[in-house]
Amino acid sequence: MTDDNAWLADYLEQGRQGLLAAPPSAFWIVTRACNLKCHYCFADARKRDPDELTTVQAFAVLDDLAEHGVAFVTYLGGEPLMRRDLFDLVDYSTDLGIYTAVLSNGLLVKRGAVQRLKDAGCQMLGISIDSNDPLVHDAIRGVRGSLIGAKRAVREAVASDMRCSSAAPRGPPTTGVRTYLASNSFSKHCGNCGNSPGHWA
Ligand code: SF4
Repeated sequence: MTDDNAWLADYLEQGRQGLLAAPPSAFWIVTRACNLKCHYCFADARKRDPDELTTVQAFAVLDDLAEHGVAFVTYLGGEPLMRRDLFDLVDYSTDLGIYTAVLSNGLLVKRGAVQRLKDAGCQMLGISIDSNDPLVHDAIRGVRGSLIGAKRAVREAVASDMRCSSAAPRGPPTTGVRTYLASNSFSKHCGNCGNSPGHWA
């Protein structure tokens, strides 16, 4: 393990000794609002919850996570980009030194959004793709054209070369785009199914 990752060795050792005040990673459904209608939606997403946290309340949650040593936060939903303040949340969490990822269905990940996520310090963007066949992906997702949107998002993110934020010194030095592509997700996870085990957003 390099000196740069000494924090990780220290962190793992604390975990082994049961000294951590909180789990290392938080997956946070920051909104239930969503622009898709997936058959297997585990978040029962569509409309925004009336009591969705305000920006200030969300900042307070992030302060709490940082104070308890949470090293990674992943924003998901719903569709996290349905929150107009998502860029502010990303900026805030990375400034706290938390490695920050966003999991999205991709439809709102256009060039401007990628640049803003990048500028805010987002270090990983996950885009869900259930099939390379638009008939299958769009049928699962409930919206025609959703595969085109997801693929465009991947292209935009790769072209933008999302980089690590220097404001997240504890985070691992990796950055990029993750895509989950299942060869036969429709038969495995859709129809009358429950949740998709590999689904991200
Ligand atoms: S993209 Fe995710 S949150 Fe939105 S409807 Fe599909 S499964 Fe639910």
